[in-house]
Amino acid sequence: MCGKYIVSKSPKASSVSPVPQATDNGHQPQPIINLDHGDPTMYESYWKEVGQKYSVTIPVFQSLSYFANMKNLCWFLEPKLEEEIKTLHKNVGNAITENRHIIVGTGSSQLILAALYALSDSLNDPNPVSVVSAAPYYSSYPEITDFLRSQLYKWSGDARCFDKDGPYIEMVTSPNNPDGVIRKPVVNRAQGMVVHDLAYYWPQYTAITSPADHDIMLFTVSKCTGHAGSRIGWAVVRDENIARKMVKFIEINTIGVSKEAQLRAANILEIISLSCQRQKPRDLDNFFEHSHQLMAERWKKLRNVVKNNQLFYVPKFPNQYCNFTNEFTETYPGFAWIKCKEGVDCEKLFREHKILTRSGKRFGGDAEYVRISMLSRDEEFDLFVQRLSTIHGTGNQN
Ligand code: PMP
Repeated sequence: MCGKYIVSKSPKASSVSPVPQATDNGHQPQPIINLDHGDPTMYESYWKEVGQKYSVTIPVFQSLSYFANMKNLCWFLEPKLEEEIKTLHKNVGNAITENRHIIVGTGSSQLILAALYALSDSLNDPNPVSVVSAAPYYSSYPEITDFLRSQLYKWSGDARCFDKDGPYIEMVTSPNNPDGVIRKPVVNRAQGMVVHDLAYYWPQYTAITSPADHDIMLFTVSKCTGHAGSRIGWAVVRDENIARKMVKFIEINTIGVSKEAQLRAANILEIISLSCQRQKPRDLDNFFEHSHQLMAERWKKLRNVVKNNQLFYVPKFPNQYCNFTNEFTETYPGFAWIKCKEGVDCEKLFREHKILTRSGKRFGGDAEYVRISMLSRDEEFDLFVQRLSTIHGTGNQN
């Protein structure tokens, strides 16, 4: 297995092959279904239901200062956001936050860079430290790591193939993007530093089996609540020096994080926590129960369609007991990692049917796989399932 995966550069927007035009047969042309990005618009319907009652208004005289709390190590973190982050983790039981530093970022994307900087700068090593992740890995890790050709760190590919001595940083995503698998570090050597990216460790995607307790844990509202546009992520960090360096990175990079976005995110997390209470307002559905059910329905629809199809394979996940819902549940990942029949270029096949996906090659995997977002709006998802049911051919061979 090791060495099989080639790290492919992401195609530029202009190099994506054009989608074939529909033939003029008197029918409406098929609309393109874009499931390449994991844009979490499926949560929009919940938030529309919640409605105006819970909107956030920020008066023009508020939040002028760069600073949020000079007494806090993370001086640009709004106290209200910190409080709501801690409350939500406590309610859900998915992470330990006591005696840890919370650092807010412009999405967890910024925090990935902040963590790479903090860990590698602390080493004082003249050589760039290797950054690895087990394939299939989140396709942005290689891009984020190598974009600025840093002297501090460099992308070194599949963690399962990593055999160099010395320090390294391993990115562990659990549940994993793209394949939904629950993961642990794979290198496990002295001098290893691990960043746990827990963007999907929320009850709608997977069983919450225990509160995560790692040195650096990353979360994001993008995948928790669906507010990707707010660009708010947070890191839970054990070591003070690492936390200080991460804060320094964000200070140099963006002099903090938008207060409007933080206040909105704080409000949204507060609503979610409220929705999980026994004595919640009657018109407020439990967010995680609602979204868990939605994910379960989508996965059921997808499995039903591929059941009798010889062309596609969708992975199965074990049942685990969830301490949040107090019942057994499968994992319902935010992405479907679909394998096509041997020899089929899966992305190409889907593109021929006007479904845009992300090729397995982008994740250090191979072309027989694609990642498909399960997080689109209902209409788009239903259209996808319906179109998938019409694909029966053997597809183009490589
Ligand atoms: N980590 C993982 C595993 C992700 O899937 C994503 C979003 N696709 C991110 C980090 C970044 O999220 P954001 O920057 O929107 O917070």
